[in-house]
Amino acid sequence: MTDSTPETRSDSPRPTKHFIEQAIDADLAAGKAAGVFTRFPPEPNGYLHIGHAKSICLNFGLAQSYGGTCNLRFDDTNPSKEETEYVESIMEDVRWLGFQWDSLHYASDYFDQLYEWAEKLVKDGLAYVCDLDAEQTRQYRGTLTEPGTNSPYRDRSADENLAMLRGMKAGEYPDGSRTLRAKIDMASPNLNLRDPVMYRIMRAHHHRTGDKWCIYPMYDWAHGQSDSIEGITFSICTLEFENHRPLYDWYCKSLGIHHPRQIEFARLNITYTVMSKRMLLQLVKEKHVNGWDDPRMPTISGLRRRGYTSESIRNFATDVGVAKFNSTIDVVRLENAVREHLNRVAPRRMVVFDPIKLTITNWPAGKVEMVDAVNNPEDPSAGSRSIPFGGTLYICSDDFQEDAPRKFFRLKKGGEVRLRSGYIIDCHDVVKDKDGNVVEILCTYDPETKSGQDESGRKVKGTIHWVSADHAVSVQVRNYDRLFAVENPGQTEPGQTFLDHMNPDSLTVTEAFAEPEIKAAKVDDRFQFERLGYYVVDRDTTDEELVFNRIVPLRDSWGKMVAKGKAD
Ligand code: ATP
Ligand code: MG
Repeated sequence: MTDSTPETRSDSPRPTKHFIEQAIDADLAAGKAAGVFTRFPPEPNGYLHIGHAKSICLNFGLAQSYGGTCNLRFDDTNPSKEETEYVESIMEDVRWLGFQWDSLHYASDYFDQLYEWAEKLVKDGLAYVCDLDAEQTRQYRGTLTEPGTNSPYRDRSADENLAMLRGMKAGEYPDGSRTLRAKIDMASPNLNLRDPVMYRIMRAHHHRTGDKWCIYPMYDWAHGQSDSIEGITFSICTLEFENHRPLYDWYCKSLGIHHPRQIEFARLNITYTVMSKRMLLQLVKEKHVNGWDDPRMPTISGLRRRGYTSESIRNFATDVGVAKFNSTIDVVRLENAVREHLNRVAPRRMVVFDPIKLTITNWPAGKVEMVDAVNNPEDPSAGSRSIPFGGTLYICSDDFQEDAPRKFFRLKKGGEVRLRSGYIIDCHDVVKDKDGNVVEILCTYDPETKSGQDESGRKVKGTIHWVSADHAVSVQVRNYDRLFAVENPGQTEPGQTFLDHMNPDSLTVTEAFAEPEIKAAKVDDRFQFERLGYYVVDRDTTDEELVFNRIVPLRDSWGKMVAKGKAD
């Protein structure tokens, strides 16, 4: 293989370290961090998507490359939206991506410790119980241009605050009637520092702690301290948390506890899809798709069922890199990642869509010959298989045109073509039905031109694939396409929602004829259907029929279609 093979490309190290690695190197060199201890902290309120995959690859990847550890922590501080189903799917997705956490945690395991720390801040005069309701709290907060106003409850004594906090915990007050707030600075230019809420009163059943608590910590009050308890050194998160960092730092400093360093990077966005759990949940709940793992979903489980390999997703994450500014990545890069991987590893099979009958008029009646076909030209170790060849075949309808333009190098009347792994054939006539449609193509074959043994010296411009009519296996094919018809479905005109941008043709189901070797295929096996694309056996397969999902076509035809205006 030459240096430009994809294998060499995907395995070679990146030329320079990205900014997070540079920050880590600096901290390690300065003795500010004892090692690289990271975590992936999903909120179990939905299934993970490809954006989370990027965060997983980053956090677990850094721990691996620096010889550190990475935890999986469920950020389960909001019981109203969280479910055990999501916890299980998240663990499955992380493992499938090829990572194993060093330890598994739940923010809810720290509820007692967090509460103890809240009492400490109260005793130190750094937190107070506030009786403003949610609306009043918002009004007192001020705006980006105007400072906030101190709450009238801000100057309660430490003793009074402690008694009231205990009352909140004991369930003495109704939901939403009081909060515990950090006493920081109502005039801070950073709104997150204007006496942020630490606890709210909320009688909600928690998926792990049940009904033990009626006060729940806010994200900011739980997150940094959870990192601290676990000894995390680098708390990596997305850019929207950048202006929460001063609060993260304030909590750690005020408590005098181990202080991890928060570093932010840009979220992954991809064209032709949406990536917020809120929108994905809506697609599922309103049945615009068949569940979280619908093969058109950008969820990890959807991509898995679509036939993506975990290696291709990891390669994609490395390829897009880590940035400080938000941008949107062309979905073609994700599709190319799976093409590149499957080109190396997927066995080839011949499968005919929209079949038309082809009869070889000089083939000996009843004769069946086995021809040899290479399983994967990119991988000699994949070996070869034998395929039956007979006098009646099927080819794809669009590989034939009766009156074809000069540049049409597939089969035409009066033309010649090679049948892959078979012979060169010449088309001399067609049979038509009463409406004038071609229903059968009549050809002769040249016995001197068998693939691998051809010494005829004949050269033809085109090669097409085929299956023997007597041996063809009927399979169901689900041709999946992009779920949305526009590049940025989240961007809508007034009165529209992202649902108005759904692609009505994101799924078409057809029957196809496959070579008999296909019968050995098992659920999750992936193939290249020659000249068409990559396909995976779906779990809906039964003893009676194989069901395939299209992963990606062989080439990106979407870009060209959009250019020609056909997708409008
Ligand atoms: P969403 O906004 O889609 O609901 P989220 O940020 O609320 O996602 P979390 O469960 O809180 O989802 O995310 C867990 C981790 O994954 C966080 O560290 C978050 O920053 C990261 N993450 C979420 N979405 C992306 C993305 N698109 N790109 C990179 N990282 C992401
Ligand atoms: Mg979140």
